[in-house]
Amino acid sequence: MTSKPKPRQTRQRAEILSALATAGDFRSAQQWHDVLRHESSTVGLATVYRALQSLAESGEVDAVVTDSGETLYRRCEAGDEHHHHLRCRRCGAAEEIDVPDFEAWATQLAATHGYSSIDHTVEITGLCGECAKATN
Ligand SMILES: [Zn+2]
Ligand SMILES: [Zn+2]
Ligand SMILES: [Zn+2]
Repeated sequence: MTSKPKPRQTRQRAEILSALATAGDFRSAQQWHDVLRHESSTVGLATVYRALQSLAESGEVDAVVTDSGETLYRRCEAGDEHHHHLRCRRCGAAEEIDVPDFEAWATQLAATHGYSSIDHTVEITGLCGECAKATN
């Protein structure tokens, strides 16, 4: 059973979503909190954490976990439609990538092991063009 969000929570959620809409990079809750503070929002860091978690659970934002175990969030143009990411390890820039053959391959491979209701997460990380240039 889920309780209805209170008006205050709804407003804070809206502020967080609008901040997410302004930047297309994957950022941590801490970084999104900084963005909000620059926009003179008074939303606290704990609220940002909780809101991002619940937005990720409902599929309104995408979440990825970095090698160091940090969760990064981004609002994707693909919305809650199934898609994959190509993400820059350094700056968090990301592309939505579509690999149609992969979907069929994954489902088929799982089926050969007797699995159905297949779900998967694919993420490719690297250095974006900008970051690669900066390291040279
Ligand atoms: Zn995405
Ligand atoms: Zn980059
Ligand atoms: Zn897929």
